[in-house]
Amino acid sequence: VPTAGPPWLANLNPAQRAAVETVDGPVLVLAGAGTGKTRVLTARLSYILLTRRAWPSQILAVTFTNKAAREMRERVGHMIGDAVEGLWLGTFHSVAARILRRHAELVGLKQNFTILDTDDQLRLVKQLLQAEGIDDKRWPPRTVLGAIERWKDRGLTPAQVPGDEAVGEVAGGKLLRIYEQYQERLRTVNAVDFGDLLLHNLTLFLTRPEVLAEYHRRFKYLLVDEYQDTNVAQYLWLRLLAQEHRNLCCVGDDDQSIYGWRGAEIGNILRFEADFPGASIVRLEQNYRSTAPILAAASGLIAKNAGRLGKTLWTESSGGERVRIHGLWDGEAEARWVGEEIEARQRDGTGLSQMAILVRAGFQTREFEERLLKLGVAYRVFGGPRFYERQEIRDALAYLRLVHQPDDDLAFERIVNLPRRGLGDVALRAVHQRARGQGASMTAAASGLVADGATGELKPAARKALGLFLDDLDRWRRMAADQPHTDVARTVLDESGYTRMWQADRSPDAPGRLENLKELVVAMAEFENLAGFLEHVSLVMENADASGGEMVTLMTLHAAKGLEFDCVFLPGWEEGLFPHPRALDEKGTAGLEEERRLAYVGLTRARRRAYVSFAANRRIYNQWTAAIPSRFVDELPKDMVELTADQGLYGSGGFQTGFGAGGAAEPRWSYAASQPRGDVAPTPSRPPPMVLEGKSRTVAPRAAPKVPFQRGDRVFHAK
Ligand code: ATP
Ligand code: MG
Repeated sequence: VPTAGPPWLANLNPAQRAAVETVDGPVLVLAGAGTGKTRVLTARLSYILLTRRAWPSQILAVTFTNKAAREMRERVGHMIGDAVEGLWLGTFHSVAARILRRHAELVGLKQNFTILDTDDQLRLVKQLLQAEGIDDKRWPPRTVLGAIERWKDRGLTPAQVPGDEAVGEVAGGKLLRIYEQYQERLRTVNAVDFGDLLLHNLTLFLTRPEVLAEYHRRFKYLLVDEYQDTNVAQYLWLRLLAQEHRNLCCVGDDDQSIYGWRGAEIGNILRFEADFPGASIVRLEQNYRSTAPILAAASGLIAKNAGRLGKTLWTESSGGERVRIHGLWDGEAEARWVGEEIEARQRDGTGLSQMAILVRAGFQTREFEERLLKLGVAYRVFGGPRFYERQEIRDALAYLRLVHQPDDDLAFERIVNLPRRGLGDVALRAVHQRARGQGASMTAAASGLVADGATGELKPAARKALGLFLDDLDRWRRMAADQPHTDVARTVLDESGYTRMWQADRSPDAPGRLENLKELVVAMAEFENLAGFLEHVSLVMENADASGGEMVTLMTLHAAKGLEFDCVFLPGWEEGLFPHPRALDEKGTAGLEEERRLAYVGLTRARRRAYVSFAANRRIYNQWTAAIPSRFVDELPKDMVELTADQGLYGSGGFQTGFGAGGAAEPRWSYAASQPRGDVAPTPSRPPPMVLEGKSRTVAPRAAPKVPFQRGDRVFHAK
């Protein structure tokens, strides 16, 4: 193995280097967490450029988030000592959007099509359900949309849905019909959803060989990170693009496949060899990220999964703390403990940005946020309500979208009467009816209604208001044609009365909203024009990206993929929370295995320290319920963990996890609560009765329960 070359090449291990230098032909790098897959992909990109095999514009690299794309671009820049212009580097969605813009007409769209967000999608599905007389209580729009999206994930247009799936249970057997209408409606309003970006690309490539050929000529090399989480549509897209030159390199880890619920297909890994015969399969086994105990704990856990390809992982690093597992009284105590540990690590010199709290479900962040706020520890929520999701920002964006694209009905509906202009439901229904009758957009229908007011479909006052609104829009559009888009935005917000609405608002959050609106214009200034800005917004809505100074990161386990931190906190490891009951219900052991992979992803984010915690009591609405530690706690190899509990919790002999291995020889922790699992009667305002001892200590199994109380013991009683 040659060791010459720039440091980033020379420092790779032989297997990594082989993956970098095997540039031609299909390559699959299949390797565990922290083995340098992403590093290899980045080095490979640089290597292709360095050896002049391709120009930047001839390389397509796909990452899982926009943030990962940004980082890769930066690293490549550093490696080859130059800014890299023209690379096609982004998420599947952003690349597909870029391609679709160039050929929109070929699939029946206009070049300035809108990319819908989830709210828009749900509103549309709801309308369609109502029009079909389907009870949207029984079939909530979210469920119906989910089913449509699963078809899209598989690359299926309505015409391609297999016969035996066409009449299912969802939406009373009318799902396919709703899907057809949904697609028709999107086309009429010149819009697409996220799934469509890939679906339209597929249609384009399959029906226009000359377009596909153009991309074959363009892209000489394809690179894909997090390959285990591609869905079928993405896979087909890759295969089409790569089929000519076959220079496709995918890196992934079957143990980190965590998007099965969103249509990701682990089978894509197995298909790779079949679809690309002669592919080089590279395995990387050395982990460079985590300490030995963390790696061993994670490996021990994932070994419980039956359906895996299996792999060895080792590390050169020695020493390191065992995984700390801590049991606490309740969620508040857990948040307090995590806060204390964060501050302790900070005192040891670990930066806040090197710490993360990874939760199973979004709602879990609240307690930690409150705690961190109280402590004055800076944090950010990755994937929470973000700037562009705030109400006032969405409203402002709807104005801008409508100025940019008169056919955008969803934007029209959102703001036609915001602020109030006396256009009530009756007037809107008239516009709706005409739009549907004529297959026209609402803007067009509204103009028609205003023009022939004699028909009496609109009351004179409404007709006047609608006319003024349309005039405003026309004026703003003319302005947009030749004036800076930031000026247009300011004018639109002022003249529409939208800013004034919030100025007149007396609620405490109104000032913050006005600041947000100002900031929106600041954000726009970074883009050349309105179209570019709107495109950017629709793409950042998909991926939660935030940036800033030193902050603790709070995010879901799903969002943490590919990232690493010195310290990782994994709270809420309790039955009923993690594994998540919904995942278990839906898919049996497959669901459980995916949850276990999620636990594996969580642990393997940690470089130096991993903390797992669970609480004995959780409040759900207004009720306390007893919780038991997650079975995953039990599955961690005992000699790789350090088990502690708060304030003598589980005093009478340790705790028992829900689903132990049950081996007779193994010492078992027993749960201290006197009630058997699940039988704790919830009380409205206090945790269930439980004996607490005085000192914090490491829990050890004990022969007999300790009976006498000592001074300082905390005792809860139902009364
Ligand atoms: P994941 O499966 O979590 O996405 P990965 O396989 O993509 O992990 P990377 O993120 O590329 O792994 O690498 C993990 C860490 O190990 C990074 O900090 C990376 O810089 C480091 N690393 C990888 N290879 C080497 C190497 N040959 N020498 C030193 N450090 C390395
Ligand atoms: Mg990676």
